[in-house]
Amino acid sequence: MRIAIKTLGCKVNQAESDALVSKLAQNGFEIVDFSEESDLYLINGCAVTQEAERKTRQMVRQALRRNTQALVLLTGCTARLLLEERRDPWNGRVVILPVQDKEKEILEYLGQFVSPSAQRHHKVSSSRVRSWVKVEDGCDHFCSYCIVPHLRGGVRSEPPQKILAEVQDLETKGVKEIVLCGINLGYFGRDIAFPFINLLELLVRRTGQVRFRLSSFEPFLLTRFFLERYFALGRRVCPHFHLPLQSGSDPILQKMGRGYDTAFYRSLVDTLRQMVPSVAVTTDVMVGFPGETEEDFQNTVHFCRAIGFSRMHVFSFSPRPGTPAFRWEKEMGVRCEEKKQRERTLLELAEESRYQYHRQFLDKNVEVVVESVRSGMAFGYSENYIPVRIPGVPEEKIGEVVRVTINRIERDFVVAEPLVESEEPGGVKHV
Ligand code: SF4
Repeated sequence: MRIAIKTLGCKVNQAESDALVSKLAQNGFEIVDFSEESDLYLINGCAVTQEAERKTRQMVRQALRRNTQALVLLTGCTARLLLEERRDPWNGRVVILPVQDKEKEILEYLGQFVSPSAQRHHKVSSSRVRSWVKVEDGCDHFCSYCIVPHLRGGVRSEPPQKILAEVQDLETKGVKEIVLCGINLGYFGRDIAFPFINLLELLVRRTGQVRFRLSSFEPFLLTRFFLERYFALGRRVCPHFHLPLQSGSDPILQKMGRGYDTAFYRSLVDTLRQMVPSVAVTTDVMVGFPGETEEDFQNTVHFCRAIGFSRMHVFSFSPRPGTPAFRWEKEMGVRCEEKKQRERTLLELAEESRYQYHRQFLDKNVEVVVESVRSGMAFGYSENYIPVRIPGVPEEKIGEVVRVTINRIERDFVVAEPLVESEEPGGVKHV
Protein backbone atom coordinates (compact mmCIF):
# COMPACT_ATOMS: atom_id res chain seq x y z
CA MET A 1 0.00 0.00 0.00
CA ARG A 2 1.32 3.44 -0.96
CA ILE A 3 1.33 6.27 1.54
CA ALA A 4 2.24 9.93 1.01
CA ILE A 5 2.97 12.20 3.94
CA LYS A 6 2.90 15.98 4.08
CA THR A 7 4.30 17.77 7.10
CA LEU A 8 3.59 21.37 8.01
CA GLY A 9 4.78 23.50 10.89
CA CYS A 10 7.42 23.01 13.52
CA LYS A 11 10.40 20.71 13.89
CA VAL A 12 8.43 18.57 16.31
CA ASN A 13 5.98 17.76 13.53
CA GLN A 14 8.90 17.05 11.21
CA ALA A 15 10.54 14.74 13.76
CA GLU A 16 7.25 12.93 14.35
CA SER A 17 6.72 12.46 10.61
CA ASP A 18 10.30 11.20 10.14
CA ALA A 19 9.83 8.60 12.87
CA LEU A 20 6.51 7.62 11.34
CA VAL A 21 7.93 7.28 7.83
CA SER A 22 10.65 4.94 9.02
CA LYS A 23 8.14 2.81 11.01
CA LEU A 24 5.67 2.74 8.10
CA ALA A 25 8.41 1.57 5.75
CA GLN A 26 9.31 -1.22 8.17
CA ASN A 27 5.64 -2.17 8.34
CA GLY A 28 5.23 -2.73 4.64
CA PHE A 29 3.99 0.64 3.41
CA GLU A 30 5.53 2.09 0.29
CA ILE A 31 6.37 5.73 0.90
CA VAL A 32 5.70 7.92 -2.13
CA ASP A 33 6.01 11.64 -2.74
CA PHE A 34 3.02 13.77 -1.82
CA SER A 35 2.73 14.95 -5.42
CA GLU A 36 2.18 11.37 -6.61
CA GLU A 37 -0.96 9.28 -6.70
CA SER A 38 -1.22 7.35 -3.46
CA ASP A 39 -3.65 5.02 -1.68
CA LEU A 40 -3.35 6.94 1.51
CA TYR A 41 -2.45 10.55 2.26
CA LEU A 42 -1.40 11.56 5.73
CA ILE A 43 -1.23 15.26 6.51
CA ASN A 44 0.57 16.23 9.70
CA GLY A 45 -0.94 19.69 10.07
CA CYS A 46 -0.14 22.87 11.93
CA ALA A 47 -2.46 25.40 13.57
CA VAL A 48 -0.02 27.84 15.08
CA THR A 49 -1.22 30.66 12.80
CA GLN A 50 -4.23 31.18 10.56
CA GLU A 51 -1.88 30.89 7.59
CA ALA A 52 -0.54 27.51 8.75
CA GLU A 53 -4.09 26.27 9.19
CA ARG A 54 -5.03 27.52 5.73
CA LYS A 55 -2.08 25.71 4.16
CA THR A 56 -2.97 22.52 6.01
CA ARG A 57 -6.50 22.63 4.61
CA GLN A 58 -5.08 23.32 1.16
CA MET A 59 -2.96 20.15 1.42
CA VAL A 60 -6.01 18.14 2.42
CA ARG A 61 -7.90 19.46 -0.62
CA GLN A 62 -4.95 18.59 -2.87
CA ALA A 63 -4.89 15.04 -1.53
CA LEU A 64 -8.65 14.64 -2.02
CA ARG A 65 -8.28 15.81 -5.63
CA ARG A 66 -5.19 13.73 -6.43
CA ASN A 67 -6.91 10.43 -5.84
CA THR A 68 -10.62 10.54 -5.14
CA GLN A 69 -10.48 6.92 -3.92
CA ALA A 70 -7.66 7.55 -1.47
CA LEU A 71 -8.00 7.53 2.27
CA VAL A 72 -7.01 10.96 3.63
CA LEU A 73 -5.92 11.30 7.25
CA LEU A 74 -5.33 14.55 9.06
CA THR A 75 -3.34 14.62 12.27
CA GLY A 76 -1.32 17.16 14.27
CA CYS A 77 -2.49 20.41 15.83
CA THR A 78 -5.07 21.15 13.10
CA ALA A 79 -6.81 17.85 13.81
CA ARG A 80 -7.02 18.72 17.50
CA LEU A 81 -8.30 22.20 16.78
CA LEU A 82 -11.03 20.94 14.45
CA LEU A 83 -12.12 18.35 16.94
CA GLU A 84 -12.20 20.88 19.79
CA GLU A 85 -14.26 23.27 17.69
CA ARG A 86 -16.38 20.37 16.40
CA ARG A 87 -15.67 21.41 12.84
CA ASP A 88 -15.39 19.12 9.83
CA PRO A 89 -14.77 21.14 6.64
CA TRP A 90 -14.78 17.99 4.49
CA ASN A 91 -18.06 16.43 5.61
CA GLY A 92 -16.61 13.12 6.70
CA ARG A 93 -14.34 12.60 3.66
CA VAL A 94 -11.25 12.97 5.83
CA VAL A 95 -10.31 10.91 8.89
CA ILE A 96 -9.36 13.37 11.63
CA LEU A 97 -6.92 11.77 14.06
CA PRO A 98 -6.05 14.08 16.96
CA VAL A 99 -3.67 11.63 18.63
CA GLN A 100 -1.28 12.17 21.56
CA ASP A 101 1.26 9.50 20.68
CA LYS A 102 1.35 10.04 16.94
CA GLU A 103 3.70 7.23 15.98
CA LYS A 104 2.05 4.52 18.05
CA GLU A 105 -1.58 5.47 17.52
CA ILE A 106 -1.30 6.13 13.79
CA LEU A 107 0.51 2.85 13.27
CA GLU A 108 -2.22 1.07 15.17
CA TYR A 109 -4.86 2.79 13.07
CA LEU A 110 -3.07 2.02 9.81
CA GLY A 111 -2.38 -1.59 10.82
CA GLN A 112 -5.83 -2.54 9.55
CA PHE A 113 -4.86 -1.51 6.00
CA VAL A 114 -1.67 -3.55 5.68
CA SER A 115 -2.03 -6.97 4.14
CA PRO A 116 0.44 -9.74 5.08
CA SER A 117 1.79 -9.67 1.50
CA ALA A 118 2.59 -5.99 1.82
CA GLN A 119 4.70 -6.80 4.86
CA ARG A 120 7.14 -8.64 2.60
CA HIS A 121 7.85 -5.59 0.43
CA HIS A 122 9.80 -3.33 2.67
CA LYS A 123 11.01 -0.06 1.26
CA VAL A 124 13.46 1.70 3.48
CA SER A 125 13.07 5.44 3.74
CA SER A 126 15.95 7.58 2.61
CA SER A 127 18.69 8.05 5.14
CA ARG A 128 19.55 11.57 6.11
CA VAL A 129 22.70 13.20 7.24
CA ARG A 130 20.85 15.49 9.63
CA SER A 131 17.92 14.20 11.55
CA TRP A 132 15.47 15.53 14.14
CA VAL A 133 14.63 13.65 17.27
CA LYS A 134 11.65 14.66 19.35
CA VAL A 135 12.36 14.40 23.06
CA GLU A 136 9.41 16.26 24.54
CA ASP A 137 5.84 17.25 23.78
CA GLY A 138 3.54 19.87 25.28
CA CYS A 139 4.05 23.12 27.15
CA ASP A 140 2.83 24.49 30.50
CA HIS A 141 3.72 28.10 29.86
CA PHE A 142 0.64 29.52 28.10
CA CYS A 143 1.99 32.63 26.40
CA SER A 144 -1.04 34.84 25.80
CA TYR A 145 -0.96 34.41 22.00
CA CYS A 146 -0.13 30.72 21.77
CA ILE A 147 -2.59 27.98 21.00
CA VAL A 148 -0.06 25.16 21.28
CA PRO A 149 -0.49 24.31 25.02
CA HIS A 150 -4.26 24.26 24.45
CA LEU A 151 -3.89 21.75 21.64
CA ARG A 152 -0.91 19.69 22.75
CA GLY A 153 -1.44 19.71 26.51
CA GLY A 154 1.15 19.72 29.30
CA VAL A 155 4.78 18.62 29.27
CA ARG A 156 5.45 14.98 28.47
CA SER A 157 9.06 13.84 28.14
CA GLU A 158 10.18 10.81 26.22
CA PRO A 159 12.07 8.27 28.36
CA PRO A 160 15.85 8.95 28.14
CA GLN A 161 16.63 5.32 27.27
CA LYS A 162 14.17 5.43 24.35
CA ILE A 163 15.77 8.65 23.08
CA LEU A 164 19.23 7.13 23.46
CA ALA A 165 18.20 4.04 21.48
CA GLU A 166 16.79 6.23 18.70
CA VAL A 167 19.89 8.41 18.57
CA GLN A 168 22.23 5.39 18.51
CA ASP A 169 20.15 3.84 15.74
CA LEU A 170 20.38 7.04 13.66
CA GLU A 171 24.13 7.18 14.19
CA THR A 172 24.59 3.64 12.94
CA LYS A 173 22.56 4.64 9.85
CA GLY A 174 25.06 7.38 9.07
CA VAL A 175 23.37 10.44 10.55
CA LYS A 176 26.02 13.02 11.48
CA GLU A 177 23.93 15.71 13.12
CA ILE A 178 20.93 15.28 15.37
CA VAL A 179 18.64 18.19 16.19
CA LEU A 180 16.90 17.59 19.50
CA CYS A 181 13.48 19.15 19.46
CA GLY A 182 10.39 19.55 21.56
CA ILE A 183 7.44 21.88 21.86
CA ASN A 184 9.23 23.49 24.78
CA LEU A 185 12.60 21.76 24.88
CA GLY A 186 13.72 23.48 28.09
CA TYR A 187 10.86 21.81 29.94
CA PHE A 188 12.18 18.38 29.07
CA GLY A 189 12.45 16.18 32.14
CA ARG A 190 10.17 18.13 34.48
CA ASP A 191 7.68 15.30 34.58
CA ILE A 192 10.29 12.55 34.98
CA ALA A 193 12.82 14.37 37.20
CA PHE A 194 15.57 14.12 34.59
CA PRO A 195 17.08 17.50 33.60
CA PHE A 196 17.63 18.15 29.94
CA ILE A 197 21.35 18.71 30.39
CA ASN A 198 21.65 15.22 31.92
CA LEU A 199 20.00 13.84 28.80
CA LEU A 200 22.45 15.67 26.58
CA GLU A 201 25.43 14.42 28.58
CA LEU A 202 24.07 10.88 28.41
CA LEU A 203 23.66 11.09 24.63
CA VAL A 204 27.17 12.48 24.12
CA ARG A 205 28.69 9.84 26.39
CA ARG A 206 26.92 6.93 24.71
CA THR A 207 27.43 7.89 21.07
CA GLY A 208 30.55 8.18 18.97
CA GLN A 209 30.82 11.18 16.69
CA VAL A 210 27.38 12.59 15.97
CA ARG A 211 27.01 16.27 16.79
CA PHE A 212 23.96 17.64 18.58
CA ARG A 213 22.06 20.82 17.89
CA LEU A 214 19.14 22.13 19.90
CA SER A 215 16.01 23.42 18.27
CA SER A 216 14.26 26.40 19.85
CA PHE A 217 15.02 27.01 23.54
CA GLU A 218 12.95 29.43 25.63
CA PRO A 219 15.27 32.14 27.03
CA PHE A 220 13.73 32.02 30.50
CA LEU A 221 14.77 28.38 30.85
CA LEU A 222 18.42 28.84 29.94
CA THR A 223 20.73 29.18 32.94
CA ARG A 224 24.46 29.77 33.30
CA PHE A 225 24.70 26.38 35.03
CA PHE A 226 23.15 24.75 31.95
CA LEU A 227 25.45 26.65 29.58
CA GLU A 228 28.61 25.71 31.47
CA ARG A 229 27.75 22.03 31.26
CA TYR A 230 26.62 22.42 27.64
CA PHE A 231 29.83 24.00 26.38
CA ALA A 232 31.89 21.52 28.44
CA LEU A 233 30.67 18.93 25.91
CA GLY A 234 32.92 20.63 23.35
CA ARG A 235 32.64 19.86 19.63
CA ARG A 236 29.88 17.32 20.15
CA VAL A 237 27.36 20.16 20.67
CA CYS A 238 26.79 23.08 18.31
CA PRO A 239 27.57 26.64 19.40
CA HIS A 240 24.13 27.71 18.23
CA PHE A 241 21.10 28.77 20.27
CA HIS A 242 17.70 29.59 18.87
CA LEU A 243 16.18 31.88 21.51
CA PRO A 244 12.71 33.14 20.52
CA LEU A 245 12.63 36.85 21.36
CA GLN A 246 9.14 37.66 20.01
CA SER A 247 9.41 41.37 20.89
CA GLY A 248 12.04 43.92 21.86
CA SER A 249 9.54 46.01 23.83
CA ASP A 250 9.13 45.29 27.54
CA PRO A 251 5.41 46.19 27.82
CA ILE A 252 4.65 43.87 24.89
CA LEU A 253 6.78 41.06 26.32
CA GLN A 254 4.84 41.40 29.53
CA LYS A 255 1.49 41.24 27.75
CA MET A 256 2.71 38.19 25.86
CA GLY A 257 3.50 36.54 29.20
CA ARG A 258 6.92 35.51 28.00
CA GLY A 259 8.61 35.41 31.40
CA TYR A 260 11.59 37.71 30.65
CA ASP A 261 12.32 41.28 29.69
CA THR A 262 14.82 42.75 27.24
CA ALA A 263 17.46 43.28 29.96
CA PHE A 264 17.33 39.58 30.84
CA TYR A 265 17.55 38.58 27.19
CA ARG A 266 20.46 40.95 26.58
CA SER A 267 22.45 39.61 29.52
CA LEU A 268 21.76 36.03 28.41
CA VAL A 269 23.22 36.76 24.98
CA ASP A 270 26.20 38.54 26.60
CA THR A 271 26.85 35.48 28.77
CA LEU A 272 26.68 33.21 25.74
CA ARG A 273 29.13 35.37 23.80
CA GLN A 274 31.54 35.62 26.73
CA MET A 275 31.58 31.84 26.91
CA VAL A 276 31.88 31.23 23.15
CA PRO A 277 32.42 34.38 21.05
CA SER A 278 31.53 32.66 17.78
CA VAL A 279 28.16 31.37 19.05
CA ALA A 280 25.22 31.83 16.69
CA VAL A 281 22.09 33.33 18.19
CA THR A 282 18.99 32.93 16.05
CA THR A 283 15.46 33.99 16.91
CA ASP A 284 11.76 34.40 16.14
CA VAL A 285 10.19 37.85 16.21
CA MET A 286 6.49 38.55 16.04
CA VAL A 287 5.17 41.86 14.75
CA GLY A 288 1.71 43.37 15.23
CA PHE A 289 0.86 41.90 18.62
CA PRO A 290 -2.38 43.62 19.80
CA GLY A 291 -1.53 47.07 21.14
CA GLU A 292 1.97 47.15 19.61
CA THR A 293 2.59 50.86 18.98
CA GLU A 294 5.07 52.34 16.54
CA GLU A 295 7.32 53.02 19.53
CA ASP A 296 7.13 49.38 20.67
CA PHE A 297 8.01 48.30 17.17
CA GLN A 298 10.94 50.72 16.91
CA ASN A 299 12.23 49.36 20.22
CA THR A 300 12.12 45.89 18.71
CA VAL A 301 14.05 47.08 15.66
CA HIS A 302 16.74 48.72 17.82
CA PHE A 303 16.98 45.74 20.12
CA CYS A 304 17.35 43.27 17.24
CA ARG A 305 19.99 45.47 15.63
CA ALA A 306 21.91 45.69 18.92
CA ILE A 307 21.85 41.92 19.42
CA GLY A 308 22.91 41.11 15.85
CA PHE A 309 21.10 37.83 15.26
CA SER A 310 22.62 35.48 12.74
CA ARG A 311 19.16 34.48 11.57
CA MET A 312 15.69 35.86 12.30
CA HIS A 313 12.36 34.28 11.61
CA VAL A 314 9.90 37.16 11.31
CA PHE A 315 6.15 36.69 11.29
CA SER A 316 2.94 38.64 11.93
CA PHE A 317 0.72 38.05 14.93
CA SER A 318 -2.16 35.77 14.08
CA PRO A 319 -5.17 35.62 16.46
CA ARG A 320 -5.91 32.08 17.62
CA PRO A 321 -9.34 31.41 19.15
CA GLY A 322 -9.30 30.57 22.84
CA THR A 323 -6.20 32.62 23.68
CA PRO A 324 -6.30 35.97 25.57
CA ALA A 325 -4.63 37.74 22.64
CA PHE A 326 -7.51 36.68 20.40
CA ARG A 327 -9.83 38.93 22.44
CA TRP A 328 -7.31 41.77 22.49
CA GLU A 329 -7.03 41.68 18.72
CA LYS A 330 -10.64 42.86 18.47
CA GLU A 331 -10.02 45.72 20.89
CA MET A 332 -6.56 46.90 19.87
CA GLY A 333 -5.43 44.94 16.83
CA VAL A 334 -2.75 46.39 14.55
CA ARG A 335 -3.93 47.02 10.99
CA CYS A 336 -3.00 44.35 8.48
CA GLU A 337 -1.01 46.69 6.19
CA GLU A 338 0.88 47.97 9.22
CA LYS A 339 1.78 44.41 10.24
CA LYS A 340 3.03 43.70 6.72
CA GLN A 341 5.12 46.87 6.70
CA ARG A 342 6.68 46.02 10.06
CA GLU A 343 7.38 42.51 8.84
CA ARG A 344 9.19 43.89 5.77
CA THR A 345 11.28 46.27 7.90
CA LEU A 346 12.43 43.44 10.14
CA LEU A 347 13.11 41.12 7.23
CA GLU A 348 15.48 43.71 5.76
CA LEU A 349 17.21 43.98 9.09
CA ALA A 350 17.39 40.19 9.32
CA GLU A 351 19.20 40.04 6.00
CA GLU A 352 21.69 42.68 7.04
CA SER A 353 22.34 41.03 10.43
CA ARG A 354 22.89 37.64 8.84
CA TYR A 355 25.40 39.13 6.42
CA GLN A 356 27.26 40.89 9.23
CA TYR A 357 27.41 37.69 11.25
CA HIS A 358 28.72 35.67 8.30
CA ARG A 359 31.36 38.33 7.56
CA GLN A 360 33.06 37.70 10.89
CA PHE A 361 33.98 34.25 9.63
CA LEU A 362 35.80 35.29 6.48
CA ASP A 363 39.11 33.36 6.41
CA LYS A 364 38.06 31.34 9.45
CA ASN A 365 37.71 27.57 9.67
CA VAL A 366 34.43 25.80 10.36
CA GLU A 367 33.20 22.20 10.28
CA VAL A 368 30.49 21.37 7.79
CA VAL A 369 28.35 18.25 7.60
CA VAL A 370 27.95 17.68 3.86
CA GLU A 371 24.24 17.19 3.21
CA SER A 372 24.20 17.20 -0.59
CA VAL A 373 26.46 17.54 -3.63
CA ARG A 374 25.19 18.85 -6.94
CA SER A 375 27.50 19.24 -9.95
CA GLY A 376 30.52 19.19 -7.70
CA MET A 377 29.11 21.79 -5.32
CA ALA A 378 28.63 20.53 -1.77
CA PHE A 379 26.16 22.04 0.64
CA GLY A 380 25.86 21.81 4.39
CA TYR A 381 25.72 23.74 7.63
CA SER A 382 28.59 24.69 9.87
CA GLU A 383 28.42 24.03 13.60
CA ASN A 384 27.27 27.63 14.06
CA TYR A 385 24.53 27.21 11.45
CA ILE A 386 26.09 29.05 8.54
CA PRO A 387 24.90 27.65 5.18
CA VAL A 388 28.12 26.74 3.38
CA ARG A 389 28.81 25.83 -0.25
CA ILE A 390 32.04 24.05 -1.09
CA PRO A 391 33.05 23.72 -4.75
CA GLY A 392 34.97 20.72 -6.07
CA VAL A 393 33.64 18.11 -3.68
CA PRO A 394 32.83 14.60 -4.95
CA GLU A 395 29.49 12.96 -4.16
CA GLU A 396 31.18 10.38 -1.92
CA LYS A 397 31.65 13.15 0.61
CA ILE A 398 27.92 13.30 1.37
CA GLY A 399 27.51 12.52 5.05
CA GLU A 400 31.07 13.44 5.93
CA VAL A 401 32.21 16.19 8.21
CA VAL A 402 34.69 18.45 6.39
CA ARG A 403 36.82 21.24 7.77
CA VAL A 404 36.77 24.26 5.51
CA THR A 405 37.96 27.85 5.32
CA ILE A 406 35.31 30.41 4.46
CA ASN A 407 36.62 32.56 1.61
CA ARG A 408 33.58 34.37 0.20
CA ILE A 409 30.36 35.80 1.66
CA GLU A 410 27.29 35.75 -0.55
CA ARG A 411 23.81 37.02 0.26
CA ASP A 412 22.29 33.81 1.64
CA PHE A 413 25.32 31.58 2.13
CA VAL A 414 29.09 31.51 2.25
CA VAL A 415 31.59 29.78 -0.01
CA ALA A 416 34.45 27.79 1.46
CA GLU A 417 37.37 25.59 0.47
CA PRO A 418 38.30 22.31 2.13
CA LEU A 419 41.32 21.92 4.35
CA VAL A 420 43.49 18.85 4.69
CA GLU A 421 45.26 17.95 7.88
CA SER A 422 48.95 18.82 7.60
CA GLU A 423 51.68 16.33 8.39
CA GLU A 424 53.04 18.99 10.70
CA PRO A 425 51.63 18.39 14.19
CA GLY A 426 48.71 20.68 14.97
CA GLY A 427 48.65 22.30 11.54
CA VAL A 428 46.25 22.30 8.64
CA LYS A 429 46.95 23.24 5.05
CA HIS A 430 44.81 24.05 2.05
CA VAL A 431 44.15 21.38 -0.56
S1 SF4 B 1 6.54 28.75 25.60
FE1 SF4 B 1 4.88 30.07 24.90
S2 SF4 B 1 5.15 30.13 22.65
FE2 SF4 B 1 6.31 28.36 23.39
S3 SF4 B 1 4.85 26.62 23.18
FE3 SF4 B 1 4.73 27.40 25.31
S4 SF4 B 1 3.04 28.83 25.25
FE4 SF4 B 1 3.65 28.51 23.11
